[in-house]
Amino acid sequence: MPEGPEIKLAADKIAKAICNLPITDIFFAFDTLKEFEKILASQQVVSVKPKGKALLIRFSNSLSIYSHNQLYGVWHIRAAKSYPTTNRQLRLAIHTEKKSALLYSASDIAVLNDAEIAVHPFLKSLGPDVLDEATTIEQVHARFLDQQFYRRGLASLLLNQQFLCGLGNYLRSEVLFVARINPSLRPVDCTTMQLEKLAEMAIVIPRKSYFTKGITNDITIANKLKAAGQPRQAYRHWVFGRENQPCHICSTTIIKRMFGSRRIYYCPQCQS
Ligand SMILES: [Zn+2]
Repeated sequence: MPEGPEIKLAADKIAKAICNLPITDIFFAFDTLKEFEKILASQQVVSVKPKGKALLIRFSNSLSIYSHNQLYGVWHIRAAKSYPTTNRQLRLAIHTEKKSALLYSASDIAVLNDAEIAVHPFLKSLGPDVLDEATTIEQVHARFLDQQFYRRGLASLLLNQQFLCGLGNYLRSEVLFVARINPSLRPVDCTTMQLEKLAEMAIVIPRKSYFTKGITNDITIANKLKAAGQPRQAYRHWVFGRENQPCHICSTTIIKRMFGSRRIYYCPQCQS
């Protein structure tokens, strides 16, 4: 399952292919959206932004295409009007002179104006997006103190997109490690300083992962391990996926535990 940084990188790729360029043609598979083919083809795409696991492609006439990939949806960026070999069904195609952005298999697609975006049930349910530059540490900190979240386990909170949007399974382990917080705690169990650190890292680590294309470990440590011939999985993260490996900080053996049905990794020494 892709997480915030990977989704934002995918959105960047789509933006690079079709933003601010004349559109030659738009295709919608669903009959209810056919009327928008002509309306949108005369416009230009002005932005492509992830909203949790959904995407908003905004046009110059202020309409946006909303799409949610759910489990099966997949985007392909191709040379204009060239299509991949696949058994999947093409649901949306945006063609420019040089590139085509093609969405396969997704079934949740709509064209929305700003008023409809504001009341859209999925979009409205999302918490502050940790990858959105407008989201601040103070906002995230306030979220941990909010009565509806204060007594819930951090391990489940950090995956809850209504709490914070953009975090996923690897980021959850990494954020807790860097904040030095045990995964079994709730916000109410943490000191003010711990919660401040957690709020800071809930923003810093996903943004770092976005800029490094997935590396959450300290870059100096990662480069050193890479230079020593270690594989990416050995240096990419602090703890995630590193069961039985030594902690990069204290050499204690990293532990894996299941929280709900998702795996979490932590250092029992650094996060005691
Ligand atoms: Zn450690």
